[in-house]
Amino acid sequence: NRAKQSHQAHLFYSAQMNQRSLARLKLSTDLHHALERNEFRLFYQPQVDAKTGCLCGAEALIRWQHPQKGLLSPAEFIPFAEETGLIVPIGTWVFSEACRQLAQWQAQGLRLVRLAVNLSPRQFSKDLVNTLQEQVIAHQISASQIELEITETLLMQIDDDMVGILHDLHALGFSLALDDFGTGYSNLAYLHTFPLDYLKIDQRFVRGVPNNDSNVAIVKAIIAIAMNLNLQLIAEGVENQAEADFMSQLDCHQLQGFYMAQPLPVEQFNLLLAQAELSLLPHLAAAR
Ligand code: C2E
Ligand code: MG
Ligand code: MG
Ligand code: MG
Repeated sequence: NRAKQSHQAHLFYSAQMNQRSLARLKLSTDLHHALERNEFRLFYQPQVDAKTGCLCGAEALIRWQHPQKGLLSPAEFIPFAEETGLIVPIGTWVFSEACRQLAQWQAQGLRLVRLAVNLSPRQFSKDLVNTLQEQVIAHQISASQIELEITETLLMQIDDDMVGILHDLHALGFSLALDDFGTGYSNLAYLHTFPLDYLKIDQRFVRGVPNNDSNVAIVKAIIAIAMNLNLQLIAEGVENQAEADFMSQLDCHQLQGFYMAQPLPVEQFNLLLAQAELSLLPHLAAAR
């Protein structure tokens, strides 16, 4: 009886395993085809000046318009794309689409000062610098319009080659931002050796300020580090006026979050871009 039970458990387990590997296989073939079938989209989330609420940049965030499953968020496919290496061609598509859109805005007389694009650590091969430079030239835009977001995970595994790539990208005119700051373990002693321009405070530390004492302490410490290293600060995930006011009072330069705007499809983002003098901070907009 024991043996039978164990056999059944095994069958159940392998059936589950099979289902999981089948699902992964399906996701993998779907993801391959997604590029050919042009199913990826970029959404644009405004970044605003913390004092005025005026648009000063945007972050490009990928979405997958899946034929059966609808619009998928990055959490549903980026980790898998990173595991399999598919993030490299997907990342190239993201960058080229961001360049194409910047060029289109320029042609339409809509000017976006800065567009942030996320880079995965897996994209940091020796081809990266050439690939990005080619796209910038092909679309006749300036590298200075693009901010590349890297994660602390990259800095944790960084070697001399990667440091060289960061310096090459910076020399080409790209700005560099450290994303999700505080969630990994950056060796603070080395932070000043990287050519960084922006530091993005992760949303988990913005959450609940000024009432969350531990987050208040962390945010103040991060701001002190950024000021010392001469980095521009962006607060991520600002969801309400209290969080916006607090970050602004601490002289955080820019804010990004649902309180101002969600990541938007380009048609909706264009409406904001067309009226750049508009404050996206609801309490300032209402006061006018
Ligand atoms: P991230 O780069 O830190 O992007 C910010 C994420 O926070 C976005 O999630 C955005 O929608 C979300 N967010 C913004 N404001 C708020 C807010 O007020 N409250 C809350 N709760 N969330 C907010 P999203 O678009 O789902 O992207 C998740 C992550 O996926 C990104 O985090 C980034 O790490 C990754 N990702 C997105 N697009 C790309 C890409 O093109 N390439 C790579 N390698 N990774 C990407
Ligand atoms: Mg980012
Ligand atoms: Mg982030
Ligand atoms: Mg994040």
